[in-house]
Amino acid sequence: MTNLEEMRKEVDLLQKEVEFQKNLADYWKRRWKQEYAEKIELLYKNIELEMKYKETSHADQAMTSRATCGYCGKPNHTENECWKKSKKCLYCGSTEHQISSCPSAPNKRKKYSAAN
Ligand SMILES: [Zn+2]
Ligand SMILES: [Zn+2]
Repeated sequence: MTNLEEMRKEVDLLQKEVEFQKNLADYWKRRWKQEYAEKIELLYKNIELEMKYKETSHADQAMTSRATCGYCGKPNHTENECWKKSKKCLYCGSTEHQISSCPSAPNKRKKYSAAN
């Protein structure tokens, strides 16, 4: 009889222990999950910031400094912006005239107009 009573108590205790461990496991699971969620959110935020930073401050610089004109082969502009290709005045960029008759180009003006 006493043996049975003791066994019951033991089972009760074990059950409580199991319950306790389960709750503890759940608690840690939630904690890890939360920490994971926070960390990953932070990571994504940083990635986003870095992308924005690259887009705003570096992209333009990199684009213009790396770009070489496919038409005239000169750097700092693209083929689409090429004055030579669009037949703009190479001195002032005007479409009204060529550099040979550019009114703002110094020195060359006389020489070119004389040649023409
Ligand atoms: Zn060009
Ligand atoms: Zn001009």
